Amino acid sequence: MGIFEDVLLNARAAVDTVGQKAGKVIDISKLRLAAADLKSEITQKYQVLGRLTFEEETTGKIYEENKKEIVENIKELKSHLESVNDLIASAKQKTKCDNCGSYNTRGALFCSKCGEKLHIAENEEDHMSPDDVIDFTEDNFEDDDLL
Ligand SMILES: [Zn+2]
Repeated sequence: MGIFEDVLLNARAAVDTVGQKAGKVIDISKLRLAAADLKSEITQKYQVLGRLTFEEETTGKIYEENKKEIVENIKELKSHLESVNDLIASAKQKTKCDNCGSYNTRGALFCSKCGEKLHIAENEEDHMSPDDVIDFTEDNFEDDDLL
């Protein structure tokens, strides 16, 4: 139980950290890391759920409470991941100023903060492909299948 709480707190801290930066400078690579962390935590919890189900089937023990707790944790992690993906999506709509690092509306010619001429790096489109957003529809798991 302690482990699950620790994991959840870490995920919350990661989202809070990037969330505070929203509207200022958003570091997409950090957001990607946070999303990847959240996704791997969710995957681990799916595995624990599967293990508990296996134990129930083979030993006859019931882990109903443990499973409920994990399902709630997964739901929370999923909503955190959605927030992170939203931040990534909104960061992608911005052009970063090479001079001061602030993000400007995509298509803007000059930085609204320092006035530097903005240009879009040639490889920016490659860096910011839709693949960067981790999509949960790829998952085969549904909570209903696990209960
Ligand atoms: Zn600037």
